[in-house]
Amino acid sequence: MDPNTAFLIYSRLNDRYPHTENSFLHFQDPFQCMILTILSAQTTDATVNKVAPSLFARFPTPESLAGADLEEVEGIIHRTGFFHAKARHITGAARTVVERFGGRVPATMDELLTIPGVGRKTANIVLNHAFGIDEGIAVDTHVRRLAQRIGFSDSANPDRIEQDLTKLFPKSHWGGITYLLIRHGREVCPARKPQCETCVLRDLCRYALSKEEG
Ligand code: SF4
Repeated sequence: MDPNTAFLIYSRLNDRYPHTENSFLHFQDPFQCMILTILSAQTTDATVNKVAPSLFARFPTPESLAGADLEEVEGIIHRTGFFHAKARHITGAARTVVERFGGRVPATMDELLTIPGVGRKTANIVLNHAFGIDEGIAVDTHVRRLAQRIGFSDSANPDRIEQDLTKLFPKSHWGGITYLLIRHGREVCPARKPQCETCVLRDLCRYALSKEEG
């Protein structure tokens, strides 16, 4: 896809989903942002937002979560799924923040990637949403599906998709395109039944155009 078409798509989505905030998770600081993003794997942001108040009421600081009893944490985050692994990840992440970074979440990609449970997607979200740093583009399941369908990328690999998106869009749009693709994926272009007939991208989207031709 050429950058002009990519820009047109961005503009249409931006008109469709005017927004003032770019995060679906409710957090107060970088630490909460990191923990909630780890918990958001394989579940909805709404579910994560429901467990956040009890989790941070009981463990308000990296130090308290670092020393938490695993079973108690599992009980609090149970409804987010995969709670055994997630409890290990978030307590391990808290320990790393305390032991290696003096209790403060680091603001660089390289340092974030040393934290248990933090991959590029989570690191990008923390950098963008908590620190306002555009280091890359977070590729979650919605961004991956829409990038492929619309034609931003031919790859199924999240790292490769991120590279393709960062080439197509100026840095100032990196946070925005993540938000817009997630909104559009949830509201109009879900995995099972994309609503191409009413979609604002139907004349530009590779998937919709190929269906018309077929
Ligand atoms: S045209 Fe269809 S496949 Fe393309 S983004 Fe819209 S809903 Fe999704």
